[in-house]
Amino acid sequence: MIDRNRCEGKAECVTVCPYDVFDVRRLTPEEREGMSLLGSLKSWAHGHKQAIVARPTDCGTCGLCVKACPESAIALRKV
Ligand code: SF4
Repeated sequence: MIDRNRCEGKAECVTVCPYDVFDVRRLTPEEREGMSLLGSLKSWAHGHKQAIVARPTDCGTCGLCVKACPESAIALRKV
């Protein structure tokens, strides 16, 4: 899972993931709902581009994305 208040769309997760689980794209208004004021400001500053868990069932639970994320925005959760 990705913390919407932390992700800045730097795409380190896209680079390190061996299973191509992530995409980086502009969030929809619905996906931005519920963000904190600071999270909303950060999202706006980055053009609302964030990482998306596009293919969660492809995850191999290696943890590389958790270590690579410079914003500590990723946590592993069973789906
Ligand atoms: S834990 Fe899953 S999503 Fe993260 S890098 Fe490994 S395979 Fe990719």
